[in-house]
Amino acid sequence: MKKILVTGGLGFIGSHTVVELQNEGFDVVIIDNLSNSKIEVLDNIKEITGTKPDLFQIDLRVKKDVVDFFSNNTIDGIIHFAAFKAVGESVQNPLDYYENNIGSLVHILQEMRDRNIDNFIFSSSCTVYGQADELPITENAPIKHALSPYGNTKQIGEEVIIDTCKANNLNAISLRYFNPIGAHDTTKIGELPIGIPQNLIPYITQTAAGIREQLSIFGNDYNTPDGTAIRDYIHVVDLAKAHIAALKRLIQKENKTNFEFFNVGTGKGSSVLEIVKAFEVATNQKLNYKIADRREGDIAAAYADTTLANSELKWKTEKTIEQALQSAWKWQKKQKS
Ligand code: UDP
Repeated sequence: MKKILVTGGLGFIGSHTVVELQNEGFDVVIIDNLSNSKIEVLDNIKEITGTKPDLFQIDLRVKKDVVDFFSNNTIDGIIHFAAFKAVGESVQNPLDYYENNIGSLVHILQEMRDRNIDNFIFSSSCTVYGQADELPITENAPIKHALSPYGNTKQIGEEVIIDTCKANNLNAISLRYFNPIGAHDTTKIGELPIGIPQNLIPYITQTAAGIREQLSIFGNDYNTPDGTAIRDYIHVVDLAKAHIAALKRLIQKENKTNFEFFNVGTGKGSSVLEIVKAFEVATNQKLNYKIADRREGDIAAAYADTTLANSELKWKTEKTIEQALQSAWKWQKKQKS
């Protein structure tokens, strides 16, 4: 049985990926410092899969702890989620973001190099494309100047990995996520935003639940059919499964070059207003919302061309946006009780 390290394995995407890894028969070990996750997630994973993964509560910025971990564990592949992810916060505290997101990555790659560990999956983002000139966005779209330190850590992260792959014979895949939403069908794991949600779906579900008074739709004067911004919202379980496909590709040595990157989205764009309407229909809830100013740094439209991921990873999305919104709502209701 292959032993896979999942860093940030108690987080939103990480926990769903751990479940899919276990479902596929992988032995999973998690590193998480609980900075943006809860320890209960470990038991919730066990309730879904029947197996509690090993957890090491390590801060990846602490080099000695990383070295100790790898001295005591034999690892066959790594899926690296552990990172800070709040765009606004990254503008306020850029050095924290560079230290954590880049420093941790470097520490892990150093151990992979020194111990000849192969098979690395990196958690990247469609933010690397900025406002792409052409839609849908293919992997050939140019990388645009990052609009935030957070986005920059994803760009720099990919460059660090490219250079390491070249010099050290490492094989890696970077998955560029579009907008992950939803929760596991069992409602045992989901997104746990701390404080006021910055992302659209948790803000919508918290508004419907009465925790927030009103959703602000950031801008209705974009150059889009209804004026609101367009994104590609992907069910987190579909996204999690893309990681398994990418990992298997590396383990089975099916990769064509030693650093590959794939867009992971649905291929379909939805506007903020369309999401609001779809949420109302899917959950039979009326949503209180208003139109507000554009949010600084937001782009008008982004959705993925998924041709490459579909053909090379032999992966495609299975869930609809309605299912994603329903699962997010079911999860929200559970948080209240
Ligand atoms: N959005 C919004 N109101 C909110 C949060 C988000 O109108 O309270 C919009 C945001 O402007 C963007 C879309 O919803 O057009 C998705 O935003 P989110 O922060 O979820 O993801 P992003 O694509 O910005 O990473």
